[in-house]
Amino acid sequence: MPNEATRTSSGSTPRAAAVLFDLDGTLTRPYFDFAAIRAEIGLAPESRLPILESIELMEPLQRKQAEEILLRREREAALASELWDDAHAVLAALRTAGLILGLMTRNSRVSAETVIAKHGLKLDRVHTREDGPVKPSPEPVLALCAQLGVAPVAVWVVGDYLFDIQSGQAAGATTALMIGDAAVPDYADQANHVIRRLGELPALLGLGARLPRTSAPGLP
Ligand SMILES: [Mg+2]
Repeated sequence: MPNEATRTSSGSTPRAAAVLFDLDGTLTRPYFDFAAIRAEIGLAPESRLPILESIELMEPLQRKQAEEILLRREREAALASELWDDAHAVLAALRTAGLILGLMTRNSRVSAETVIAKHGLKLDRVHTREDGPVKPSPEPVLALCAQLGVAPVAVWVVGDYLFDIQSGQAAGATTALMIGDAAVPDYADQANHVIRRLGELPALLGLGARLPRTSAPGLP
């Protein structure tokens, strides 16, 4: 799909052909209470292993129960999800500029599709945990690139957590970490860009009027 040249102000980043978004906390307001889910599943509060990876290590019966809890919690959260105020406008602006839009999430397919349908999101491809390895692996980025016919170097990955950045970076994509009003996390320097809101993206991609840009100290 042709698109206008979209370069960052530095001019060092190839034009973007596609943008791959994280879902929870990025297109939507954060809608998971991870601590409550971990508690119901019975994961130790002090464990630093994420939920999906913890479930993979369980015995079959325990694993089945944990997966049922997770699916129920995901379904409830998806139904209650709320988009960020500027999500529709930003997606529309990127699409108007000819960019391909994808989504990659560690959510289940049914959870992601519930959020997408609830809010009428228009996305070209959606990668969920049923589709293969999940973030922080680069695989979801590479799989979406193959399906969309774009090179990773022409892709931006936008997310609100370390795994989004690690996944995009390992795939060779340009990464943007969205932090909202939170303090800049210590891993922010792994991202190519740090933004507070989705609304900063169009300008960062070289589209339309430039908006104030927020970057972490020490970023290239
Ligand atoms: Mg997220």
